[in-house]
Amino acid sequence: MQSASFRKTRPMNRKAIALLVVSLFMAIVFVSCDQQKETNTAKAQSQPVAAAASASPKLTLPPDSGPPPAFDSGRAMKYVKEIVAFGPRPIGSANHKKVEDYLASHLKGDAVEEDVFTADTVEGKFPVKNIIAKFPGSKDGIIVVASHYDTNYPLRNTSYIGANDGASSSALLLEIANELRGRKLDGYSVWLVWDDAEEAMKDWSDADSLYGIRHLAQKWQDDGTLKKIKAFLLADMIGDADLNIDRDLNSTPWLEEVVYQAATRLGDQSHFFARDNQVSDDHLPFMQRGVPCADLIDFDYGYNNVFWHTPQDTVDKLSPKSLEIVGGAILETISILDKMDTLPPK
Ligand SMILES: [Zn+2]
Repeated sequence: MQSASFRKTRPMNRKAIALLVVSLFMAIVFVSCDQQKETNTAKAQSQPVAAAASASPKLTLPPDSGPPPAFDSGRAMKYVKEIVAFGPRPIGSANHKKVEDYLASHLKGDAVEEDVFTADTVEGKFPVKNIIAKFPGSKDGIIVVASHYDTNYPLRNTSYIGANDGASSSALLLEIANELRGRKLDGYSVWLVWDDAEEAMKDWSDADSLYGIRHLAQKWQDDGTLKKIKAFLLADMIGDADLNIDRDLNSTPWLEEVVYQAATRLGDQSHFFARDNQVSDDHLPFMQRGVPCADLIDFDYGYNNVFWHTPQDTVDKLSPKSLEIVGGAILETISILDKMDTLPPK
């Protein structure tokens, strides 16, 4: 993925701005007592949680009921280690084929669709395979949860293994599959998508990126599937032990708010949305087609994102707890969406 704010040396820190604002208003209140109204406004801004909530539309959510979702973080972490053990997994490589087979071996018995095609890239033609596992629900409509599983192509001849960028979210989806398997879901159908060829072949651009998911979005538009998709949740770089999921300004505000409320219900809100970002990622082809999307991404991997797209993206930087927090937030988001009478449009 690519972050606009990364290039523009954002993201800005909401907390710092709120603190600055509240300090200014505190100064004013000592000078003049008839500034009460503004002071109250400043107090609201001084609370990051309230500020984050007020940035999104008002939603009426179903009451918090039922047990928190189950998520086996140890097993998810085991999957991360097994995936990175294949080594670099760029498209067209023998290791890429191994991870395709690995994912398929974990989805035996599930309803799996493959979207296979040849991508015409700036580096030539490559085989691409999106893998979709479908878990049927009783409610009309589909919630998609996606992760890319390829690793960075330009780093193909280094020791780069993409533990966080590629493996963490792919493993997360495998563990979500374990939680969904074998029972009739009492909400929307959930389709897990391991999409391919997310990474740029040379330099990130609209044309040189997101090859797999662009193909899938177009295919689902053509065959009518797209109309049934109620929400598209994306996980990317979610294994960082120092977990800070960004509020992505390229995502759908109301769905981001549901994610935030889901995390809050699980007591994990301090890992969400302290920082705004604007991320170009696998959700964009679905956003462009009117599907509500939320990109769950921590695009601050090491100080100043220093481990991103480097051979330092290794398992020792990750934590099972982070996988659990994001896995829980996704499952709780699905549970909230299932109980909402109607979902807002994008
Ligand atoms: Zn990447």
